[in-house]
Amino acid sequence: MAKSFLKFVRDIGFYIEEKGVKATIKISRKEKEKLWNKLYKRDGGKCHYCEIEEKDFAEIWGEFYGGKKRGKLEVDRKDNEKGYNEENCVLSCPICNNAKSDKFTYEEFLKVGHVIKQIWQQRKKKTRGKLS
Ligand SMILES: [Zn+2]
Repeated sequence: MAKSFLKFVRDIGFYIEEKGVKATIKISRKEKEKLWNKLYKRDGGKCHYCEIEEKDFAEIWGEFYGGKKRGKLEVDRKDNEKGYNEENCVLSCPICNNAKSDKFTYEEFLKVGHVIKQIWQQRKKKTRGKLS
């Protein structure tokens, strides 16, 4: 494939990487937004793994390194070798998405998510306790 063609493909928001028979397809920002909205409606606006809602995320976890605030749920592919579609995707909070990376399988991370859930729920109780 010619380099100029690859550049063109990337520029319009699609990047196709071929590794033997495997193909990883990234979707454009607009396509991802559409998918995000569908998943948000389907899954009730919370992290698929730890079940935290966006409104609780910033309050409980605060800022990341460098003062960056990340509270928005992100699209996570259950199987990183499959594409971005409703069947293969769930919404994940930034903590779960970072931790899962490409190292945990979907099934493994459901277990990790359960533990993260217990931790944020404890923190939520503590935060609420301080306020009252
Ligand atoms: Zn989460």
